[in-house]
Amino acid sequence: MIEQYRDLVDQLVEVGRDAAGRGLVIASAGNLSARRPGTDAFVVTAAGTWFDRLAAGGQFSLLGLDGTIRDGNPRPSSEWKLHARTYALRPDVTCVIHLHPQVAVLVDALGHEVRLVNLDHVAYLGRVARVPFLPNGSDELAEAAARASIDSNAMILAHHGCSTLGDSVEMAYRRALNLEQAAENTFRCLQVGRTDLTFPEEWLPSVRGA
Ligand SMILES: [Zn+2]
Repeated sequence: MIEQYRDLVDQLVEVGRDAAGRGLVIASAGNLSARRPGTDAFVVTAAGTWFDRLAAGGQFSLLGLDGTIRDGNPRPSSEWKLHARTYALRPDVTCVIHLHPQVAVLVDALGHEVRLVNLDHVAYLGRVARVPFLPNGSDELAEAAARASIDSNAMILAHHGCSTLGDSVEMAYRRALNLEQAAENTFRCLQVGRTDLTFPEEWLPSVRGA
């Protein structure tokens, strides 16, 4: 059954390899998932998988939104609920990417919001939500992230990582990359003492609609 998800798994393998290469996760941190539009099943990375070793095979589980294991690796990521709850609340979302990007987490932990500096940040991120720290793998974290997803496709999970969503694997990953770049820009602003930098207000509506 999981063979029918080969195209999505291949895309996630590629995201994993790229994200590990960029240092957006280290060791076995983070997890990736995808599904077909409007369905109640999704493929998710298995527990303990390293993003740069996903191509080895057997690294994905096929789950129902209720957590039932349908095929593939019998030990899904302990954070599978983070994905399942968001899919349940956002029928349009077909990919959830959960990374541990260090600059986004650090900027948030320092008490600053991530600033949207360039037009890609504004167009792809729109609004960056924040979820307070809750234990990883918990129902509470999964529920809080799902609630945040109602009006945001990118969120920082405090002292932990991020979750970005999309209607394709490419779009969810594009958002993850833009989130970390915006955070790196924000950190540089802080280094030169700027905490007020914003995208030109008068252009926000047209760029958001782009
Ligand atoms: Zn995590």
